[in-house]
Amino acid sequence: MRFEISKVLDTIEGRVTTDPTLVRAAVDLAELVRFTDLDRGRPASMLRLGIVIDALGRQVQEDGVQVYAVVHRGLLSDGDLTSNERMVVRRWADDGLVEVLNNPGDRMLEVADLLGLPVLTRARLDGLRGRYPWIGQPGRVLAPVVGAGGPTLAAHAGGGAVPAPTDPSPTGARLLARLWRCPEPGCALFGAGGGGGAFADLARVHRTAISQPPPSLRGGAPSCPRHDRPLTDAGARPRHEMLAVRIGGLVRQRFVVADRPVVVGRAPEEDGGITVGQWLNDEARRWISRSHLRLELRGADLVAQDVSTNGSGLRPRGSLDDDDRITLNRQQSRVLGPGDFVELYPGVQVGRAADLPSAAAFAPASVMAEAPTMTMRTVDR
Ligand SMILES: [Zn+2]
Repeated sequence: MRFEISKVLDTIEGRVTTDPTLVRAAVDLAELVRFTDLDRGRPASMLRLGIVIDALGRQVQEDGVQVYAVVHRGLLSDGDLTSNERMVVRRWADDGLVEVLNNPGDRMLEVADLLGLPVLTRARLDGLRGRYPWIGQPGRVLAPVVGAGGPTLAAHAGGGAVPAPTDPSPTGARLLARLWRCPEPGCALFGAGGGGGAFADLARVHRTAISQPPPSLRGGAPSCPRHDRPLTDAGARPRHEMLAVRIGGLVRQRFVVADRPVVVGRAPEEDGGITVGQWLNDEARRWISRSHLRLELRGADLVAQDVSTNGSGLRPRGSLDDDDRITLNRQQSRVLGPGDFVELYPGVQVGRAADLPSAAAFAPASVMAEAPTMTMRTVDR
């Protein structure tokens, strides 16, 4: 069990982000590491973050869901965590994957408010409904609990056990339309290059300008939640499209295409590439090239270019009728119209996230590899 913990933490690392385009819920890390009933383990454990993320994934029927974690600074020196766990949180903070704050206050709720996210908490929020009226809406506040079938999310304030995100608030939309710069040198959240600080190029985490978190509002002024300093406006945030990889009917990963192309393949070497090899059976893995499909925004268009050995198929308006299928090969490219998606191999689909909901009946289950990467399976219970 012990030797597996750092492996599990690595998996969880891919599920925490301050990227407003990808997050699916907001959490308070210092709160949920102490939900001892989730695994009846130590007083505080980072593995519970993975348990809660898995519960969220099951509820929204997607793999790879990511959460926005606000972290009280005290957690970095919390003796109930192992030194390895404290080191991991510190690294996440340095990489801008989580927000470490001296006084988180209601930052978790502010983030949820600005981005329209559900919050996963057991805290009583009754007194905050005046400030955040959505607390009373179904699916916006859910409690991670142990249900009959294991850890799950339960209706909390407002009712509704299924997470129900909304669009960003008008204020959130205004803040997200711009890029912001923190005067603090090396700020991991609002540094030059949209995050990653002075060493953005060396960061292990791929970030683009689009992934900058929402500022905090202090007396109406956009501010850095980490450094409590007013931010300066650094121009318009680039246009972006939210895409998804669906394999065997299940959404495995969402990703964003913004100011630079993104390559999807078995194991692309390109910076920021989306790797799908781990989800494929042998046959699909043989068919799909290391770098298979390149996606790029050109003006208002989302353009897909086949860069593979064996070719891809465009499915116009999502039609699975083979008479409609348009072959893409030998570097051919095509603008993706509404509802269009590309198949790298039968059942391995890439398109706009809104056009690719999880739909298990949709595609051959045989495409899937034997071992999905659910964190839960490696947690000893
Ligand atoms: Zn800052």
